[in-house]
Amino acid sequence: MIIPGGESTTISLLINENDLFDPIKEFGESKPVMGTCAGLILMSKNCADLKIAPFGFLDIDILRNAYGSQINSKEYKVDYNFGDGKLMNISTTLIRAPKIIKYSKESIVLGKIKSNPIAILSGHFLGLTFHPELNGIKIFHEVLFDTKSKYFYKNIINNYET
Ligand code: GLN
Repeated sequence: MIIPGGESTTISLLINENDLFDPIKEFGESKPVMGTCAGLILMSKNCADLKIAPFGFLDIDILRNAYGSQINSKEYKVDYNFGDGKLMNISTTLIRAPKIIKYSKESIVLGKIKSNPIAILSGHFLGLTFHPELNGIKIFHEVLFDTKSKYFYKNIINNYET
């Protein structure tokens, strides 16, 4: 499942109004979930904004709109480390993006902007503070959903552990 970008307070409201919180939480217990931007906010454990009821899939604390408003949104070139000893440079678009202000030791940070983690993997959960679909980037989908890829999350976890 992918929880997309958008407006996290609205997504959270709609999830609760439609009684989808428990089914999604249960789905995530056994199946891969990726969250992009607002979706990442919903996957967090703690978000200071009380309008959000987060799923806690990722052991992270989140600050919403941490780069400023819409006009501060921009594209960055980021070096990602998928655990194979090489860095992959990928165009990365942040739109009114959140910041991950705290994360557990078990999290694997795949990419950072300055010292801020922007892509975080923890078991079968992947959180991105950006929008891969805006740059036609498929590798993060590969990470979570393509069992045959060398970048499949289980391979990344193995590579990071060895
Ligand atoms: N700023 C939005 C929020 O906090 C997220 C923006 C996005 O998903 N691009 O919900």
